[in-house]
Amino acid sequence: MTPLTATDLISRAEALDAVDPLAHARDRFDLPLGVVYLDGNSLGAKPVTVGPAVADVLDRQWGTDLIASWTRNDWWQAPERFGERIAPMVGAAPGQVVVADSTTVNVFKQAVGGLRLRPGRSRIVADASTFPTNAYVVESAAELMGHTVHWVDPEGLGEVLDDDVALVMMNHVDYRMGTLRDMPALTTQAHACGALVQWDVCHSVGIMPIAFDALGVDLAVGCTYKYLNGGPGAPAFSYVNTQHIPAFAQPLSGWNGHADPFAMETSYRPDEGISRMRVGTPDIVSLLTAEAALEAFNGVDLGLARAKTQSLTELFIAAVDALVPSGVVEIVTPRDPVRRAGQVSVAHPEAGNLVEALARRGVITDFRRPDIVRFGFAPLYVRHGDAVTAALALADALEAVT
Ligand SMILES: *Cc1c(COP(=O)(O)O)cnc(C)c1O
Repeated sequence: MTPLTATDLISRAEALDAVDPLAHARDRFDLPLGVVYLDGNSLGAKPVTVGPAVADVLDRQWGTDLIASWTRNDWWQAPERFGERIAPMVGAAPGQVVVADSTTVNVFKQAVGGLRLRPGRSRIVADASTFPTNAYVVESAAELMGHTVHWVDPEGLGEVLDDDVALVMMNHVDYRMGTLRDMPALTTQAHACGALVQWDVCHSVGIMPIAFDALGVDLAVGCTYKYLNGGPGAPAFSYVNTQHIPAFAQPLSGWNGHADPFAMETSYRPDEGISRMRVGTPDIVSLLTAEAALEAFNGVDLGLARAKTQSLTELFIAAVDALVPSGVVEIVTPRDPVRRAGQVSVAHPEAGNLVEALARRGVITDFRRPDIVRFGFAPLYVRHGDAVTAALALADALEAVT
């Protein structure tokens, strides 16, 4: 087989972009000219709907309507309303998703609340490859609750489960390697020992269909500023399966989660629904920014988004194989598209310098110490042509740094 040339790759990309059913979605984003943005896995690009929506929040809602906005502009219910818009993207029937607080805070709320649902069990089993904030918070929750944490490679989950495990905490995607975990299989394994399972979908929501209800997932958290493009620091969402909501006691019993917040009662009574996951006053500007951003997904079939992401990452891998001399970099993300999420991670000893050299060539990626360059392929605005441009820039940048 003759190796693919740059010309072959460019024409393959053109052919794929010409028939891409999601190509039109790129116009829903403001993207700087001359930049290939491959860091949407960390901070999604800005949808065009955001500017006018935020101006309205600031000028009309806050500026003119002032405090009446809590009811007139429905600020008070925004966490639930936005949650219901995310719900179909994660396969959740109404009443189970609310947007409030950061992912980190939600991991803590769910860890403690989850442990309280499994009294008499003393272990947490958690994904060793998790993003560190989850790990820090889980350790703290475990200490408070008198539990131990067993860190495990998700591939070996079955071997460490027993009837003393209260909670299994998994990440849908390994944020460094880009490996996609088998949510159905791992959920089934956790349930087989009677544990609850919590999924973190920060790196998968918005790029593939997710089916929490159908799989019987108990708890989940997800980020809105990555592939959902909600803007820097936008609040995260929390999913609690309907069956657990009545007994779910999250530890941050703030007034927004109270059954009757404005009764100003002296003691806490949780809301009977998912609103019990709320804590304090929502960060309205950020929340409404993220809600407006979600319009970029109107009419988008997440099955198509998944197929396009696989196609983009497949082409990028083929282009790196063709354009970079063998042995110079290592693609550490699985080559099997079924086991890959939205990113391709490339290992190289000079990864930090490579990220800078790529940026000078107009390709924005990110660096994870010590040696990983992450190339993220957000299916709504990245084109196949961008994947080839990025591989060409990588080959060129490698010559500059080595
Ligand atoms: C991005 C990400 C976070 C971010 O948490 P913040 O509270 O928003 O800082 C947490 N966990 C995972 C797995 C992530 O991918």
